[in-house]
Amino acid sequence: MGDLAENRTLQGKHMISFDEAFRIVLENTGQTAAEDIALGDCLGRVLAADVASDMDMPPHDLSAMDGFACRQADLDAGLTEIETIPAGYMPQKAVAGGRCSRIMTGAVVPKGADIVVMFEHTEARDGLVYVVKKSGRTNIRRKAEDARAGDMVLAAGTVLRPVEIAVLASVGCDPATVYAMPRVGVVATGDELIEPRQKPTAAKIRNSNSYQLCAQIQRAGCIPKYFGIAKDTPEAIDVILAAAIEQCDVVIFSGGVSVGDYDFVPQILSDNGIDIKFAKVKIKPGRPTVFGTKGNKYFFGLPGNPVSTFVLFEVLVRPFLVKLMGADYRPARIRGRLAKDVIKRKADRSEFRPVKLEADGAVNFFAYHGSAHIHAYTHANGIVQIPAGVGKLNAGSDVEVTLI
Ligand code: AMP
Ligand code: MG
Repeated sequence: MGDLAENRTLQGKHMISFDEAFRIVLENTGQTAAEDIALGDCLGRVLAADVASDMDMPPHDLSAMDGFACRQADLDAGLTEIETIPAGYMPQKAVAGGRCSRIMTGAVVPKGADIVVMFEHTEARDGLVYVVKKSGRTNIRRKAEDARAGDMVLAAGTVLRPVEIAVLASVGCDPATVYAMPRVGVVATGDELIEPRQKPTAAKIRNSNSYQLCAQIQRAGCIPKYFGIAKDTPEAIDVILAAAIEQCDVVIFSGGVSVGDYDFVPQILSDNGIDIKFAKVKIKPGRPTVFGTKGNKYFFGLPGNPVSTFVLFEVLVRPFLVKLMGADYRPARIRGRLAKDVIKRKADRSEFRPVKLEADGAVNFFAYHGSAHIHAYTHANGIVQIPAGVGKLNAGSDVEVTLI
């Protein structure tokens, strides 16, 4: 297990383009099971079934204002008030000629009335109601104007944000049928790593990737599960992989995927019957990026440099997770103007760079000195892809920013 020569062989094969890697990842993604979840816990979940309205919305003609319900034909004379209709109660009387009813916002419009005149446009004189201003609006929300009973109001695959949750509530969809949140295991590899609360001695550094990845997983709407640091030995990786496979849908390794003498992750994945779909991608950062599947379990090996881990998660793993949750990944993409020239030292690989899109549309790249320099990116809010073959982007030119 973990034979060094075999490991190098695996690493050497199939360098593919980012687009191909993206396609392979999405083509191999299944879907988590559907489950019924209380509406109050559905934020960020994805609908697993179409939802139809169980009633007309609104169910009656309703008043959109506090005012007087009456007939448009009667607006020029004094009106006699016949009842008060609060929201939540059926009117008791029809409105006939020369009559009006006081009506509150959301209350059912009485028979006979075809307009609600807001209080502010009326005046009381001699025990009668006079309309003093005509707005031209009826202020009536018509029965079923939003949706008819049986109309589909939300389709399967919709991500539930506050507005969608309001729609589900309004049609009585509680609990809602949504896809299960993927459980995503995180394993850090590296003999140099210690946990954040420890003070590094000798050649140690703190494990930042696991915490970064868990936060990214949570932001993507999934459940992170941290499995600790695996030493750089085949055995240690194997033991932790076994635990992670059992408890998770997806396992993400950071580090140990490159061509170093202690990079055992791809080999151990392969030894465990995981079908490695690719192990090398022509991108920067992140050339050694691994993806594999075994049944309905999925495995990523991301390079250990923190910037690489961050970027690869956003551009490859996050779209995958969104699809696993039953939705399409459609991040907001905004065009901005490049603040300064960007020069690539080598243009052979497609490159992803974290950027800051400013409020005025300016796009700032960060000065950084390599894939370990996470400090350079603390205010990044987007990612820009520079295609292979492009060596320079000019200040002032348009760039597309994918918001993260
Ligand atoms: P590797 O991909 O294992 O060769 O690691 C590449 C670089 O990333 C090395 O400098 C590692 O020390 C660093 N690194 C690996 N894992 C982590 C981690 N979990 N947190 C911070 N840095 C890491
Ligand atoms: Mg390592």
